Amino acid sequence: MSPSKKSARPHALATLVLHAGDAPHAPGDPVVPPLVQSVNYVQEPGSDELMYTRYGNTPNAERIQKRIAALEGAEEALVLSSGMGATACGLLALLRPGDHLLASQYIYGGTHRLLTEEFTQMGIDVTLVEPFEPRAWRRRLRKETRAIFIESPVNPTCRVLDMRGVSLLTKELGIALVVDSTFASPVNFRPLEHGADVVIHSATKFLNGHHDVLGGVVCGTSPYIDEVRQKEIVWGQTPDPFACWLLERGLKTLDVRVQRQNESAMEIAQWLEARKEVRRCHYPGLTSHPDHAVAKDQLDGFGGMIAFELAGGARAADRFAKRLKLARYAASLGGVDTLVSEPRFSSHARMSADQRATIGIPDGFIRLSVGLEAVNDIIADLEQALR
Ligand SMILES: *Cc1c(COP(=O)(O)O)cnc(C)c1O
Repeated sequence: MSPSKKSARPHALATLVLHAGDAPHAPGDPVVPPLVQSVNYVQEPGSDELMYTRYGNTPNAERIQKRIAALEGAEEALVLSSGMGATACGLLALLRPGDHLLASQYIYGGTHRLLTEEFTQMGIDVTLVEPFEPRAWRRRLRKETRAIFIESPVNPTCRVLDMRGVSLLTKELGIALVVDSTFASPVNFRPLEHGADVVIHSATKFLNGHHDVLGGVVCGTSPYIDEVRQKEIVWGQTPDPFACWLLERGLKTLDVRVQRQNESAMEIAQWLEARKEVRRCHYPGLTSHPDHAVAKDQLDGFGGMIAFELAGGARAADRFAKRLKLARYAASLGGVDTLVSEPRFSSHARMSADQRATIGIPDGFIRLSVGLEAVNDIIADLEQALR
């Protein structure tokens, strides 16, 4: 199946984040759309189109869905109550018991658990693949393979997957290519333009960007989004109107936020790379990054996420984390505040240290989500914590 179709973009992204999907305005209209915090709506007796918040067909959800679809160049988008809800419903709409899913082994910890623990229990077979191995996908294919799932850039190692080979393969086979594009946001990467069929986001991260909304998004063709909506309705993964209203507010500044985060992160990554306390700095914008060429070719910006390894390992990481003053030590990413976290205690806590090391996350590995503070203040904070 092919759940995507590109649509023309009438405006630049900086304009689309503010206005895409807006109805024509008239005198007396509020400039800020109202929050409609109602679960149900009065209906025509006998009408069979139920308007109910869990069905995702309420005003605040529909506004934001149109806007995000325009940002990704998708026919339709669906907003869900979390990134995990989006991943679960987005994949369950494609897979049935007996089907096989190929997934990159470099995926968010929660997604890893969903695929390897929950899906396998439901009779959906999942093979985790080393995507940087030549012909990796083709060699793991089965006749039951229905979709390929990747995450790029990868949380937390900032590896960037080359979309070319994998999208040619899914097109050739007529199976779906599903991309978790949370780390990039549509400002830096629009997977549908590179042959993906489905785009998933944790809207909790860059899309909302203010650390105050949990949400997820799935983008694709209308018939596919209808299927995802059926999953959303029965699994109860619909967001509350207030979450949608806040997400719309957060989205308005997506372009300026991400542009600034791209610039600051580049400067910080170059600074980190030169420090003796730092063994390695992983940032796709650095020429030392293994995927720099792919990133330069396929991304519009290198992103606000950096990872680095402290030469002193776990003990150095403990000391560094305790000394931070401006940056906060907290889970999650992609927001206005600079955050530091360690995958060994957060997204990848359920893996063993050995398992983490094999996917490039040794102890002493720090993830930095660059916020909107002045870049020199962020660097000064990192410097005093490293010393
Ligand atoms: C955070 C995250 C998720 C899960 O999103 P939630 O909103 O926390 O459910 C999925 N994928 C990636 C890459 C993430 O960073």
